[in-house]
Amino acid sequence: MNAPSVLVVGAGPTGLITALTLAVNGVRCRIIDRRALYATSSRALGCQPRSMEVLAALGVVDGLLRRSEPLGVSVIMRGTTELAEVTWIPPDAPFPYTYVFRQPVLEEILRQKLAELGIEVEWSTEFVDLDDQRAAALSDGRRVAARWIVGCDGARSRVREAAGIAFEGGSTGEVHYLADLSFRPNHEISSPTIWLAPDGPLMLMPLPGGPSEWRIFVDVTKERDLLQEPTRKSLQALLDRRALGPGRVAIDALHWASTYRTSLRLARDYRNGTVFLAGDAAHVFPPYGGQGMNTGIQDAFNLGWKLAHVIQGKSSSALLDTYQAERRPVAVDTIRQVDQRRRLFAIRNPLGRRLRDLALQIFMRSTRAKRAGSYATSELGISYHGRSWLCVDDGPSARPRAGDRAPDGPLGNRRLFEVLHPTRFTLLVFADGDVASAIARELPPDVAVVNVNRATEPGQALTKRYNAGRGALVLVRPDGHIGFRGGSGSHLALTSFLRKIYG
Ligand SMILES: Cc1cc2nc3c(=O)[nH]c(=O)nc-3n(C[C@H](O)[C@H](O)[C@H](O)COP(=O)(O)OP(=O)(O)OC[C@H]3O[C@@H](n4cnc5c(N)ncnc54)[C@H](O)[C@@H]3O)c2cc1C
Repeated sequence: MNAPSVLVVGAGPTGLITALTLAVNGVRCRIIDRRALYATSSRALGCQPRSMEVLAALGVVDGLLRRSEPLGVSVIMRGTTELAEVTWIPPDAPFPYTYVFRQPVLEEILRQKLAELGIEVEWSTEFVDLDDQRAAALSDGRRVAARWIVGCDGARSRVREAAGIAFEGGSTGEVHYLADLSFRPNHEISSPTIWLAPDGPLMLMPLPGGPSEWRIFVDVTKERDLLQEPTRKSLQALLDRRALGPGRVAIDALHWASTYRTSLRLARDYRNGTVFLAGDAAHVFPPYGGQGMNTGIQDAFNLGWKLAHVIQGKSSSALLDTYQAERRPVAVDTIRQVDQRRRLFAIRNPLGRRLRDLALQIFMRSTRAKRAGSYATSELGISYHGRSWLCVDDGPSARPRAGDRAPDGPLGNRRLFEVLHPTRFTLLVFADGDVASAIARELPPDVAVVNVNRATEPGQALTKRYNAGRGALVLVRPDGHIGFRGGSGSHLALTSFLRKIYG
């Protein structure tokens, strides 16, 4: 086989999205995984609205929508008392919910799409070392030379180790049981529910595929010295003791179970020379809030188009420095938020618990708090503003700013998201008359130019959404974030921004 430009190590969601983003951009890669075949255990349970947009841009969202269910309300309980109902307030976005599905469903859809593009995962192919930074040594003695290596090989990443990148942080000391089980539909529980008990939290989450399929996640730290692998009996005992009371939820079957030792870790660097890390290889944290897989998906989407631009000779390798600059702070913020939630749920002291429960009862009544919580979970607010040279504002500040996600909106009889594409920059010219064609002549041919004015968008909703009534130039990057924002007179600043990318 010819030397690939990119070797992707690991065919979990992060590796598959990396390979797909490259393939959509016209770059072939090899993707290897040490497993004999794909994993079937359910692990992550869904995608946040921003990740759904990424999947839509890559052309794989329809299949997923057919096999997922949107999440609406969740409940916080203390025994049989409801402390708070956490209602999801849908943000104004094309995919306004958390969509629940099992991780293997997404992986299957991604593999199918890759196969359509001529890329198959090479199973039973284990990365063991880097011999110089341009070649990977495999466990069967073969070498794969590649210009770039992307380590998407999970929390115990061998690529990270071989590249000499420290994985900072450590264990929180907590141990959880995690399992998928069936119980008879119960009118007392129909939504995701968390019980806050003195021994730590217990969560039940409905799975797609019928009202009797559930995920349980339960803190068993107190019992850690006696711990054995979870069984139907031990999980039943935990449910009886920590949820609604004995016999209220009777487990019919246990499908899959695992013990999860919680840690919070972050790679000191996301890159060493020609080696990159993405997904769990770069960060791990417990699944409070369902952000783990989502962070990996968005790492991969951020890195994929940049690698493709450099490989295709459109940009210098300086573009690749923006990957760590933009994505590592996202993981820092996520780890901080997940840890706050973990500490809140783990409070053991009785007075502290009473105060927490009271605060939750008051706080969760507020619509503003619910809206803010939904928006934070949606990941639509993730911004790279101020984090790299790939986000530039010129002129008076207006929102959305450079680095923010570019919001969708109507554009004539289409939507803006139908016009954006993960292979190219798109310049939105908010101006009356056809100035766009004049501007287009000054830009690299790769940049698509779209006029937004009363003729192309009579309702002006997109103009309002972009606060662009006085005219604006908004350059959307291939990953759907704004790269440049300026006023109608910002042509020079725009061309100098693009020159930095296109050389
Ligand atoms: C038990 C469990 C439950 C979870 N529950 C949730 C949840 O509810 N919500 C949530 O958001 N997240 C959850 N997660 C986390 C989520 O599954 C991960 O964030 C997600 O899988 C990360 O994807 P990834 O592709 O980065 O890594 P992984 O999914 O770990 O994929 C890494 C791949 O690399 C391969 N590999 C490893 N080493 C090598 C090597 N040397 N050579 C070649 N291939 C290699 C592995 O076989 C694997 O296929 C859970 C994880 C686990 C383990």
